[in-house]
Amino acid sequence: MIIVPEKEIADLIDRKASFDAVESVFAAMAQKDAYNFPVIRESIGYADALYGFKSGFDKAGLALGLKSGGYWPGNMAKGLTNHQSTVILFDPDTGKVKALVGGNLLTALRTAAASAVSIKYLAPKGAKVLGMIGAGHQSAFQMRAAAEQCNFEKVIGWNHNPENLHKLEKIAHEIGLPFEAVGLEQLGEHADVIITITSSFDPILLDAHVTGGTHIACMGTDTKGKQEVESALVARATVFTDEIAQSITIGECQHAVGDGSLKESDIIELGSVITAKHVGRSFDDEITLFDGTGVGLQDLAVASAAVDLAIKKGVAIDVDF
Ligand code: NAD
Repeated sequence: MIIVPEKEIADLIDRKASFDAVESVFAAMAQKDAYNFPVIRESIGYADALYGFKSGFDKAGLALGLKSGGYWPGNMAKGLTNHQSTVILFDPDTGKVKALVGGNLLTALRTAAASAVSIKYLAPKGAKVLGMIGAGHQSAFQMRAAAEQCNFEKVIGWNHNPENLHKLEKIAHEIGLPFEAVGLEQLGEHADVIITITSSFDPILLDAHVTGGTHIACMGTDTKGKQEVESALVARATVFTDEIAQSITIGECQHAVGDGSLKESDIIELGSVITAKHVGRSFDDEITLFDGTGVGLQDLAVASAAVDLAIKKGVAIDVDF
């Protein structure tokens, strides 16, 4: 069994490798070569922790396994990350465990890669302004990955706690882009691409806020009850997702489908755009929305890439298991 510790991940897999892995697995999902198993997520009644599994099998990439982990709110006080995850890969020919891979950084990379893939395929032509909603841990990864897909000239941002907006400003400057803190009306009017990456349980971006051709990557809603975007805006948009089953249960579409303003049959898998079965954006003024719920296959894809790179670079720990 190969072990790739968390501390090695940063030197192994970069945004490009993560993007390629996620783009390939979304395509494999659309071609029915890869499928996710039902998600398990439970409150364990200890340490206020939420714990669960995301798993699946990619027959095209021969990745079988699971990501296990969750959220421990007390970790910060112990000097640890609140979100903890580990990926276990199995040999699909024998069922033998193949690798144990640190999953914390991989989660941020694969989540940013998913919205970046959506931006590559769905952003309006000539997109110039990136709008960021959320300034937490994931937002920096999201901004960096998005900036590689379009020739943005500016980043504008909003956060629930304005005192954290300096974090977005810092990343924008590191990328070489000017940053402006704005209200949600301005953000919806001026941004060509919007990323929402918050843990909100109420809509932040409203239908009335968004004007003109825009691509919205909704990345924060990954649990029943969370919501970032008003369902009327979801219903007005052409909606794409990583996986329809997750989108309508734990993703942003749970609300619009729940209140009847969006039909499940109107939601399109992003993989079908990658494989050219769906045209994607069809007119300049269209609002496209990607509901990025985060699927287990993304985790397996980036973990497999990390294992291959670890072996190639000679840093994989081989254990007789
Ligand atoms: P974080 O705790 O570091 O940041 C949370 C962000 O949400 C902050 O910007 C905060 O201001 C904002 N926020 C909190 N409560 C809010 C409210 N009531 N209204 C508006 N904004 C509010 O979290 P993070 O690690 O950056 O993760 C952000 C979200 O992304 C979480 O919901 C997390 O579960 C989700 N996530 C999704 C995926 C995926 O694959 N889709 C992957 C990882 C994380």
